[in-house]
Amino acid sequence: MSQHHQVIIIGSGPAGLTAALYTARAGLSPVVIEGIQPGGQLTITTEVENFPGFPQGIMGPELMEHFRAQAQRFGALSLFKNVSRVDLSKRPFRVWCDQEEFTADALIVATGASAKLLGLPSEKEYMGYGVSACATCDGFFYKGLEVVVIGGGDTALEEATFLTKFASKVTIVHRRDALRASKIMQEKAARNPKIAYAWNSVVEEIVGKNEEGRKTVTGVRLKNVKTGESSVMHTDGVFMGIGHQPNTSLFTGQLEMDSVGYLLTKGKTTQTNVPGVFAAGDVADNMYRQAITAAGSGCAAALDAERWLESQHG
Ligand code: NDP
Repeated sequence: MSQHHQVIIIGSGPAGLTAALYTARAGLSPVVIEGIQPGGQLTITTEVENFPGFPQGIMGPELMEHFRAQAQRFGALSLFKNVSRVDLSKRPFRVWCDQEEFTADALIVATGASAKLLGLPSEKEYMGYGVSACATCDGFFYKGLEVVVIGGGDTALEEATFLTKFASKVTIVHRRDALRASKIMQEKAARNPKIAYAWNSVVEEIVGKNEEGRKTVTGVRLKNVKTGESSVMHTDGVFMGIGHQPNTSLFTGQLEMDSVGYLLTKGKTTQTNVPGVFAAGDVADNMYRQAITAAGSGCAAALDAERWLESQHG
């Protein structure tokens, strides 16, 4: 037996929960299937200082609790489950969480993107305590300190350049001796006296300390892939700049995406190639990737879904 809903939202970051708020207020009784990281990427950051309306800043997890509570106040329902399969080939759309089946008249996909990580245990341990995947979010905390950025593409160079506003020194750690980043970004970085490079180097471990329950990063153990030598380099923070991956594997072969996997939407709308399926937030945005832009597109997806549902009854 499947459970039917007018609107199902997959994902619970700023985009999904804003879509839930707006569809709930439109009387569409949305159900949010929150996924493996309820609250999304902001739940792995610490303080968020760039979300308008919070002049003193707010902790990422707390901000997402506010998002959820506000959507629930108007009747949105959160399910702490993970979608394992979807069938968008006919209506109603079908969504499975393992064996449990749901159907929906309209679907809003807000599954986000995940920063690629190295997969080291120490990286997990210090995430939010000196390890970050978002310079825009966390750069401010490194005023006068030294940081490293891992990666050699445009993301890494953009993050490194941004971080020089705060940090006294930014070392780009790259596994090869040539950058992948665009020429213009490379030239900009080369002109910046605060940027240094550790070439042919991979991070083996993030080194830190835990004093009285306060974790901080103190260095990175680098291995030179040419010589095989390992050494610890001092740093106060580590930023991952090795790219992002949109969470779209569920939709392969069903929704149109670009070569990287970001969902494609029509013009200025959130409409995907399947009428009645809308995409909001980082899953369809490789350009801005901010909480506030995701929230804005969640609102747009809710309005698009509401209008589309109305047009179906006409
Ligand atoms: P890219 O895939 O272009 O670059 C990723 C970088 O990380 C590469 O240098 C890669 O090394 C390195 N890397 C990947 N995995 C690992 C790993 N496991 N360990 C160590 N290093 C690793 O991703 P970006 O996010 O930088 O860029 C994605 C797209 O977005 C690009 O098209 C880019 O141009 C665009 N973009 C544009 C910006 C702008 O114009 N302002 C800003 C940001 C992104 P290697 O080179 O050896 O493969």
